[in-house]
Amino acid sequence: MTKLTSIPSSNLCGHFGLDKEQRRLRLAFLELDDSDHAHATELIERVIKPNIDSIIDQFYAKLITDPCAFSFIESGEVIGRLKKTQKNHLLSLGIAFDTEAYFDNRLRVGLVHDQVGLPLTTYQCAYNALQQIIIAFIRSMLPVENFDEAVRFLLKIISLDMSLAIEAYHGVQVQGLERSLDHLKDHQRSLQRRVSIDELTEVLSRSQIMEDLRRCMQHAKDHHQNLSIIMLDIDFFKRVNDQYGHQAGDMVLMQMAKRFKTSVRNVDMVGRYGGEEFLVVLPDADIGISQQIAERIRAHVVSSPINNAGCTINVSVSGGIAKFDETDSIESLIDRADKALYKAKEGGRNRVVYMGL
Ligand code: GH3
Ligand code: MG
Ligand code: MG
Repeated sequence: MTKLTSIPSSNLCGHFGLDKEQRRLRLAFLELDDSDHAHATELIERVIKPNIDSIIDQFYAKLITDPCAFSFIESGEVIGRLKKTQKNHLLSLGIAFDTEAYFDNRLRVGLVHDQVGLPLTTYQCAYNALQQIIIAFIRSMLPVENFDEAVRFLLKIISLDMSLAIEAYHGVQVQGLERSLDHLKDHQRSLQRRVSIDELTEVLSRSQIMEDLRRCMQHAKDHHQNLSIIMLDIDFFKRVNDQYGHQAGDMVLMQMAKRFKTSVRNVDMVGRYGGEEFLVVLPDADIGISQQIAERIRAHVVSSPINNAGCTINVSVSGGIAKFDETDSIESLIDRADKALYKAKEGGRNRVVYMGL
C-alpha cells in the first residue's frame, strides 16, 4: 500500500518545527552531549561496522517472525532493498547526532514508514530486537569496562532515532487528515451553497430566504425596527413558455432575478419562492421605502425587453408589499403580501400594491 502523500525533499526539521533550540532541548532531555561523539565512533567502528552483515541478517531473521512485518517484506526484492537502507542507517547511527542533517535523516525514516504503511508498533518492537542484537555484539566486541557506557549510549541514540521517526510519522498522518478535513469542508461548503442558492436564478433558495425572513422578523421584534417584504410574480409567464419555449422561459427567469438583485439595497435579500415567484426581504424598511424599492424593481423589469436568440420578450412583474407587525407569524406576513399581489394582478398587473393590516 503506497500512499500519495508528498514528502518534502529537504529541510524536514523546518517542516516539523525542530529548530535549533528544539533540537538542543531534545538532546538535553536524552542527555546526549559532546562526550557521546566518542561513544558513537566506538560503536560504529568497533561494534557495528565489523559485524554489519551479521547484525542485519539477525535483525531480518527476527523481523520475518512477525506476521505484520512479514507482510511488508515478503518479496526477496523488498528485503534486499530494505537491508541496504538499514545498513546505511546503522552505519551512520549516532554519527554527528547533534547536526540538522542527522535529524533530517532520521525524520525521513518516519515519512518512509508512513508511505509504505508500516505500523509504528511493528517499527518500535523491531527496534527492541535490533537493540538486543547490537547489545550482544557490544558484549563480545568491547572491553568489559566499556560495556555500560556503550549500552547507555546505544539506548539514548536509538531513543532519539525513534522519537524522530515517530514524530515525522504522526506529523504526516495528521497533515493527511487535515487535508482530507479541508476537502470535506470544501465539499460541505459546496453542498451548503447548493442548498442555499437557487440553481437556475442564483438568488437565495426558498428554504434560505424563509430562514432569513424568520431571522429578520426576530431581529425587528427584538429591536423594534421596521421590516417589509415584497412578493413578486412575473406576469403572464406561462405565455412566455408557450410562445418561446421552456428554455427561453428559464432565461427570462435568470434575467428577472438579475434585475431584482440590482434594484434592491445591499441589505435586502432576494429569494426564489416558487416557479416564477420571488420574495424580497427588506430589513429596516417602512412602507415608503418598500414602495420605492418595489416600484424600482417593477420599472427596471419593464425598462427594456429581454433579448432571446433574436426575439425580444416583453416582460412585466407584479408585486405585493406587506409590512411586518410584531403580532405577525411568518405565514400571516406572507399571506398579506400574497393578497396584495393578488390585488396587483386584479388591478391589471405590472404594478405594486401595499396591503396594510
Ligand atoms: P400571472 O400573470 O397570473 O402570474 O400568470 P402566469 O402565466 O405567470 O401564471 P401561471 O401560474 O399560470 O404560470 C406560471 C408558469 O410558470 C407556469 C410554469 O410552467 C412556469 N414556470 C414555473 N417554474 C418555471 C421554471 O423554472 N422555468 C420555466 N421556464 N417556467 C417555469
Ligand atoms: Mg405565479
Ligand atoms: Mg405569474
